[in-house]
Amino acid sequence: MLLDGDGIVPASLRGRLKQEAGSVVIGDRVGVAEAGHAWAIESVEERVSALVRRGRGGRAPKVLAANLDHVFAVIAVPSAGTDVIDRLLALIESSGIRPVVVLNKVDLPGGPEAAADLTTLYEDVGYSVLPVSALSGLGIEALRSEVAAGTSAMIGPSGAGKSSLLNALDPELDLRVGALSRKTGGGRHTTVSSRLIPLRGGGLVADTPGFADVALWGVEPSRVAACFPELQGFDCRFRRCTHIHEPDCGVREAVAEGGVPESRYRSYVKLRGEAVEAAEL
Ligand code: GDP
Ligand code: ZN
Repeated sequence: MLLDGDGIVPASLRGRLKQEAGSVVIGDRVGVAEAGHAWAIESVEERVSALVRRGRGGRAPKVLAANLDHVFAVIAVPSAGTDVIDRLLALIESSGIRPVVVLNKVDLPGGPEAAADLTTLYEDVGYSVLPVSALSGLGIEALRSEVAAGTSAMIGPSGAGKSSLLNALDPELDLRVGALSRKTGGGRHTTVSSRLIPLRGGGLVADTPGFADVALWGVEPSRVAACFPELQGFDCRFRRCTHIHEPDCGVREAVAEGGVPESRYRSYVKLRGEAVEAAEL
């Protein structure tokens, strides 16, 4: 197959794939056939994992990317709070993918202190945490070796520095930075062309302009707790305990005793509340 300088080959969709919206997404492994001077995608292999934006108010869920090995939750210190990080982590967990926390902008005043606190918090929960600075280059080598290990995506709020980090990993990419005016935020996603970018240091990263501010809409309320690894394995009096108001709840006891971070528990309660609301729509 002939690839152009960017490693890209144009291909059209064939038959049934053409009719179904979202039949092929970035990260899909596909079977192709020659069709004259071009290529046609004829089949899509079964997805090992799928990063899904849940349907809101009865709308169908949308697969954003397939077969990702890990997803980086990128936020900027010192301003970003744990609520944003927890939301991103829960979203990634709900898609069955391994999250990595990336704390960007540690060069800013207060950045190192905030990064140290967040690193302790999230490492205790069991996550990998990478404090980095796209500006100073700190931590970029560590990020590069994580990225080189497979296919990944970066999600996080606009302005957190996702494009800057990709540029720092591979200066030849020269992605546009500071495009805060880009009207893709607010949970509405215009159709932005997505692609997998091969990085010089190895690995493929999904260029994901529409991934900011994704919510957990549509996750069954009873499945929200499963998105918080540290809430697992406690003894509760009731088998279907929500860990919110029931007596003899092992999770709430652990929170009271400091075994589960309060901020994480608060995020759980908030996201569960949103899931209940969404389920009632
Ligand atoms: P994106 O929306 O997540 O892709 O964020 P961008 O990469 O466009 O960056 C948003 C803004 O943050 C730009 O003005 C960048 O120059 C700035 N920025 C990105 N990374 C860093 C960093 O490590 N340190 C500092 N101080 N600023 C950064
Ligand atoms: Zn409980």
